[in-house]
Amino acid sequence: MGMGASAMVERAFRRLWMRPGYVERADQLQLALLICDMIGSSTPSAFEAPTGLGKSLAALLPALVHAKLSEKRIAISTYTNVLAEQYWTKDLPLALSLMEEEAPDAGTARFLIGRSRYVCKAALQGQSDDVKHAVAMTERGTETEFRRLAPVRGREASTLWSLIQVPPVCPARACPFYDECYYYGARRSVENAKVVITNHSVLVTHGIMSSVDEEAKGLLGKLDHIIVDEAHDFAGAAQNGLEFDVNARALGTAISIAARASLALPQMESAYDRLKNGLEAVSRRLEARSLELPEGILTAVPQEVMDHPAVMGLKNEVALPAAIATVEEIEKVVERFLDAAELRLAGADMSAIDSTRNYIRWLTDFQSSCGRVFHPEGVAVSYVGPDGDGSRIRLDTVGLAEPLQNILWNRTPATLMSATLAVDGEFGFLERMTGFHPLYGEVMPSPFDHARDSCLYLPPRGKIPDPSQARADKSEPTYWAAIAQELGEIIETLGGGVLALFHSRVEMEQVARRMRLSPGLTLFVQPRAGALATGERFKEEQNASLFGLRSFWTGFDAPGNTLRCVALVRIPFEVPIDPPQLTRLAWMSTQGMDPFREHTLPTAKMTMRQGMGRLLRRAGDRGIVALLDPRLHTKRYGEEILLNFPEDMRRFSDLADAMGYLGMEGPSDILIGRPFHSQIAHRVCQVAEAAHVLREVQKNLLAVPLGVQ
Ligand code: SF4
Repeated sequence: MGMGASAMVERAFRRLWMRPGYVERADQLQLALLICDMIGSSTPSAFEAPTGLGKSLAALLPALVHAKLSEKRIAISTYTNVLAEQYWTKDLPLALSLMEEEAPDAGTARFLIGRSRYVCKAALQGQSDDVKHAVAMTERGTETEFRRLAPVRGREASTLWSLIQVPPVCPARACPFYDECYYYGARRSVENAKVVITNHSVLVTHGIMSSVDEEAKGLLGKLDHIIVDEAHDFAGAAQNGLEFDVNARALGTAISIAARASLALPQMESAYDRLKNGLEAVSRRLEARSLELPEGILTAVPQEVMDHPAVMGLKNEVALPAAIATVEEIEKVVERFLDAAELRLAGADMSAIDSTRNYIRWLTDFQSSCGRVFHPEGVAVSYVGPDGDGSRIRLDTVGLAEPLQNILWNRTPATLMSATLAVDGEFGFLERMTGFHPLYGEVMPSPFDHARDSCLYLPPRGKIPDPSQARADKSEPTYWAAIAQELGEIIETLGGGVLALFHSRVEMEQVARRMRLSPGLTLFVQPRAGALATGERFKEEQNASLFGLRSFWTGFDAPGNTLRCVALVRIPFEVPIDPPQLTRLAWMSTQGMDPFREHTLPTAKMTMRQGMGRLLRRAGDRGIVALLDPRLHTKRYGEEILLNFPEDMRRFSDLADAMGYLGMEGPSDILIGRPFHSQIAHRVCQVAEAAHVLREVQKNLLAVPLGVQ
């Protein structure tokens, strides 16, 4: 069977290469064949497969081939809903077409994302015909489809979506729309599918559900293999999936769920009123960021972590009694409601029992999760933190390795892959962070010719001050000015096309404030909301540059000449200021590990590689990676970080040399090279841009083309 599967995968790729616009890609085929073997032999494995290699097809084809040839059930998980939908709408049809007559039956592959991403048909009933029509036009009833077709845009669309999305819990089978429900329909179809396309958070939920109830088989049914794409984001998704919040929002959800349960049961009005009044009182205290609940760590486990000086330093003894009282109050209020519901359920008919079952289960789970806040397990921390204008009490699981082994890795063999998964060429960091131990691992070569199409530019020593020293000396304004000066020179020399990646908003805004650019050079600064739109505007303008934060370090795709330089402003060392980060580092030191070398530094190395990965996205792209942190020269770890970039990238300390090496044009070439009407259009755009800027500034937005100020 193994040979047959490999041969089928290879045949599919050969058909692809014969299609116009495709070329033979030995590396993509190699990855697909390896994944095919890993599925066939149920081998836990990890692959670093660089951008441009075509991972989706290399994952899908082997999965489909095994679905055709065996009884294996395989889940392919990726980070976001958008990426999962790309798999479903773009990559899957291509993969199936390449298999021709060898393709498995329709229905072999199915798609499932989180419930809140689907339209609830029951909630849709109260909406206008326009909204119903837009929903009817969707294929799967998902948020992405709906937003494309919705009669309104922006904030209005978000408000509308919040009214029609599937709620956290519903009567499911007892709902009159159950048979035609988008979400439950997708879940039913997944039960019989052999290939399931999903996202990380659904996979984590599946793992949690199947670990507590073997028979329930989780959300996705029993799986024989899992392929985790974008695996560098898996730990973050898992942490989100395992966290528990006590905040105004969670209490609001509990109230609305109790309201629905009481509607289905007789004589629950007073029990519901008591719950509502009780939880609303707690909610008001949380929303007012009550002085009783100052921020800080409440408890951490194991005990040696709690005793660690860094954790003790953030421990908030003052908040503890009030936090315990708050959570106990919630537990008590919910318990009284559940007791009343149990009494009513004893005499209720089947339909009432059916329609309240899920509500009661949700409230029971909520109550028991409240009970875990001060008695967490594993490596975890409970703390009071900000939540909008209010406060929240949060329980975070910090040590993910053991929980992930219990819910996923020990149950199902998995293949993890990403463009950046290895640090120093190995998977040790991934293993520490996720508890996943690959028996086979490979770092695939990049499909790009880094020596020919890219190079590193490091400003000469002494040109930029040491940022940590500047912070210690309180001379950060000088540092920001030096960065602004350097970025200004790069942008002017290249005529724009620069993506500068920052690690902190304060720093980004301080540098932006000091930028002085020639007219015609536009600078966008990532606003607090609407990063996506800013990214799109950057891509539309060849002379634009963009200052961005975390969301631009990963996943931002600007192929072609729009992006000619990625500037990594400073080494993105995580500053352990929040309780989960502090607890993680404290736990590592109690285990005899060096938190800096085994967590902070590898994380920075990986993030730097992700940032650099924005540069070459398609064949024909070329450009410069500017590394502005002087510590790359002066600290021992600097060279270690540099060794994580492709070894054949040339290093320059003079920007003109770097440009000359790549044969890049300066700004005059770009502007002079345009046809006359295009230059006029360019100026007209500037005027329009200036007007736009004034409007934006008036609205206090940050997308500011500083060159025209
Ligand atoms: S089953 Fe649940 S999600 Fe589906 S339509 Fe009914 S209430 Fe909405």
